[in-house]
Amino acid sequence: MPCSGQYPWLVTLRFVLPALDPEARIILTLCLASEAGLFALRLKLIMLQSTKHRIALISVDGDPAIEIGQEEAGGQNVYVRQVGNALAKLGWQVDMFTRRSSPEQAAIVQHGPNCRTIRLKAGPAKFMGRDTLFDHLPEFVDQFQQFQQREGFCYSLIHTNYWLSSWVGMELKKQQSLIQVHTYHSLGAVKYRSIGEVPVIATQRLAIEKACLETVDRVIATSPQEQKHMRILVSQKGQIKMIPCGTDIDKYGGIERSVAREKLGIAPDAKMVLYVGRFDRRKGIETLVRAVAQSSLRGKANLQLVIGGGSCPGQSDGIERDRIANIVDEVGLEDCTTFPGRLDDTVLPFYYAAADVCVVPSHYEPFGLVAIEAMASQTPVVASNVGGLEFTVVPEVTGLLAPPKDEAAFAHAIDRILINPIWRDELGAAGRKRVEIAFSWDSVASGLTDLYTHLLTQTRAKTEKQPQIAA
Ligand code: UDP
Repeated sequence: MPCSGQYPWLVTLRFVLPALDPEARIILTLCLASEAGLFALRLKLIMLQSTKHRIALISVDGDPAIEIGQEEAGGQNVYVRQVGNALAKLGWQVDMFTRRSSPEQAAIVQHGPNCRTIRLKAGPAKFMGRDTLFDHLPEFVDQFQQFQQREGFCYSLIHTNYWLSSWVGMELKKQQSLIQVHTYHSLGAVKYRSIGEVPVIATQRLAIEKACLETVDRVIATSPQEQKHMRILVSQKGQIKMIPCGTDIDKYGGIERSVAREKLGIAPDAKMVLYVGRFDRRKGIETLVRAVAQSSLRGKANLQLVIGGGSCPGQSDGIERDRIANIVDEVGLEDCTTFPGRLDDTVLPFYYAAADVCVVPSHYEPFGLVAIEAMASQTPVVASNVGGLEFTVVPEVTGLLAPPKDEAAFAHAIDRILINPIWRDELGAAGRKRVEIAFSWDSVASGLTDLYTHLLTQTRAKTEKQPQIAA
């Protein structure tokens, strides 16, 4: 029988612990364990607490210390940074490794006492698109090894991010004993189905993603949909654990709509439709613009479309921004559309709070952080019914889903929310609740901590079991 009746302290642990801070958790667990006479558990906890296990998060292309919201800096950077911070709060010593992409960048950025970004040399110190980085990965591996040598330390657990870093992890695994956990962030097998021109690197990427799933110690799926895609499109082999992405529930959700609008200069009567994210064709911003142009509220209400996200003129995101601006002109929305540029942490929570609806019209999204950030801000979401968005957005409860690229369906969904402010607020409140329960960074870090601890303990047990060779 399960142990709840036999060991009531386990029930206490299950329900009380999540509410406590990490240190209080350890102390309470020690007390309870001592009372129950479980000395082995006590010892294990003391060991875990005192070793402050040092781990590496590797994200070659997604610098966790960089400004978010423009070319190739989005969800992956946020994930690594937030997971790193949250793991450090739980007592891990976290080193986040990335590639140096400008000579002005500091080699080490300290985010807190137990969390830092370390930038290694891999190719020229300039921005390089992801598809051009592969040839520089051996240098990254070499630099990582040199860093370990200088520090006199070898990481026993690394968590790699995106396929480029999975290769780095698999190479390191050939050279030293370590546990590798991997998060894909995007799967080539899914991405290449939705784009016309497949890049030269595609064959290599697909092979590496398959090898990764089949050989690393654990792959993290951030949504059930991503897990399904891995199994159907990548491989039946390998071990997957579902741990979703998260958001900062303290940063979002505390601002009244009216206060946010006053700060941003948005009229109280405006019907505000918000997009936040990178300028990339696959984000489907065109669908959003054309949907708003079809809105039944056009000409009848003060419709406002805000398209937030950074871009660099001449780069691919700058080109996409110009294309979108042309479509805005073409459909006659220029008077009610604004492009506020990159939204940093000081203003982003205000934009989410000010909006009546946040739209995520992506062609595909493995997870989609923007949806849960809007929900955390009590703003309903209209999203494409693809990937992780099908998992985070509960239709008719926290927002609405529409088929990607379907302007009419998006227009209808947006209008349904705009014309009914009472329902809008109900959807917003339900979204906030859903995020609090399922998507805080603390709960993500706690899920990862369980996984890392399990893998480390398993490896330790295996090593201890191996027969000792007599000298
Ligand atoms: N973001 C931001 N400022 C901007 C645009 C985007 O901080 O101007 C952040 C946004 O808040 C989110 C991330 O970039 O945390 C985008 O993540 P998402 O998973 O939605 O998309 P991705 O960029 O990974 O495709």
